[in-house]
Amino acid sequence: MNYKNLSIRELHELLRTKKITALDLTKQVIEEMQKDDQPNFLITLPTDDMLRYAQYLDQNFDPNNLLYGIPYVAKDNFSTKNIRTTAGSKILSNYIPNFNATIVELLNQNQAMMAGKVTLDELGMGGTGLHSAYGEISNPYDQKRQIGGSSSGSVYAVAKGLVPFSLGTDTGDSIRKPASYVGIVGFKPTYGAISRYGVIPYAPSLDHAGFFTRNVDDMALIADVTFKKDDKDFTSFETRDQDFLKDINDLKPTTKFAYLKEVQEHLPEKIKRKYEQLFNKLKAKGYEVNEVSFDLDLLNTINPVYMMISYPEAISSHANLSGMGFGMRAEGENYAQIMINSRSKYLGEIVKRRFVIGSLNLKQENQDLYFLKAKRVRRLIANALNDILASDDILILPPSFQPAPLIETALEDDEKADSDFLHDILVMGNFAGIPSITIPFTTEEAMPIGINLNAGVYQDKKLLQAAKVLEDIIGIKDRIVGDKKYD
Ligand code: GLN
Repeated sequence: MNYKNLSIRELHELLRTKKITALDLTKQVIEEMQKDDQPNFLITLPTDDMLRYAQYLDQNFDPNNLLYGIPYVAKDNFSTKNIRTTAGSKILSNYIPNFNATIVELLNQNQAMMAGKVTLDELGMGGTGLHSAYGEISNPYDQKRQIGGSSSGSVYAVAKGLVPFSLGTDTGDSIRKPASYVGIVGFKPTYGAISRYGVIPYAPSLDHAGFFTRNVDDMALIADVTFKKDDKDFTSFETRDQDFLKDINDLKPTTKFAYLKEVQEHLPEKIKRKYEQLFNKLKAKGYEVNEVSFDLDLLNTINPVYMMISYPEAISSHANLSGMGFGMRAEGENYAQIMINSRSKYLGEIVKRRFVIGSLNLKQENQDLYFLKAKRVRRLIANALNDILASDDILILPPSFQPAPLIETALEDDEKADSDFLHDILVMGNFAGIPSITIPFTTEEAMPIGINLNAGVYQDKKLLQAAKVLEDIIGIKDRIVGDKKYD
């Protein structure tokens, strides 16, 4: 039996009926991880812990628990008790937390198997999978192309079928864009719907934790387990939604979809036509699909506003990476020198660049000009988005409008201030804190491309139900690399 292309529910069925034990499954997972052809995707594989836990699980078999024995990997910015947590940075290469992130704890309580800590662009900064201190990874469908990031290892493991789900984080689009590049499902819930306690931050007002799966039902199942208020995270709230999986097929027939005129007009011809075809299919099923307008000037501010907010927040929230409290320390004569030397030695280029720009924005004389102004524009964008989502239920956006870019264009892709707004369109979802999900959509040049759906805050359940309808219409799910040809 090869477990690799099985969904959470299919694996559960095997475990429930004892066709496979947790220990056997865990051994297979370890073996597949170890022989993978891009070993850089994995930072830490806690084999001893996994085997011990699998034995414990087999002795405490719970047939009703849907996550019993199900393996997953966590982006290495989720704290894991007694397991090294690097956030993809050298500066945390010796950091072993003495606590679990709440999400990890919840998954433990549900008897899921934490099967590895996986790579990311350092501290979540970047979108290519090429900026981890632990080596590069590329797109498993075509190794000349980027896999995307920053949740690079998390999408890799799910797309390859090594695990049926994984944990990621999304500050700009780090769950929803790489999901598009490898043809899987990536979901960022409403800001505060799930706990971020124990997740190493990038920019706290934009940071979201979230998940990857290969189908929408599995995502609903994960939501059932993880949507909980956490007293350790003051941004978290008690969700009003329940029974995500039970009600997944119950999207109201009166649901209204919308797309942005300015975005649609800006898409390359081929992909534009695919979106039109999809809109027609939705209409044929009886759903309303509305074209709405969005101020082009505002669209063009998304990227600069993102930079002017996220970089200052990053430098503030990482004041503790000084070489003093924990993590790696370089020698120095005094506090300032130790800090300068530690950061110079143990941080990568992108992080240094963003820290420097962030500090500059926080200087008294620059705050009004950049940081505070950016926050005001963020509010305008969020308001415009919320207005749309007050009259239409689901806003459809393109997470990417071309197959994953080539590796050689990476530096441009990451640090270009004047990039086309289409590159950054998903960042609007972080500005507004709305729930947002990418699912597989189409293919070009034998590469996957996803589609992204958004709903108003707290409308996570409706969003998942809409994603399920679209997944059915589109007809792509549960694909893993090498399983079926992608064309
Ligand atoms: N591409 C964005 C960046 O470079 C995404 C980051 C994120 O969401 N963590 O910052």
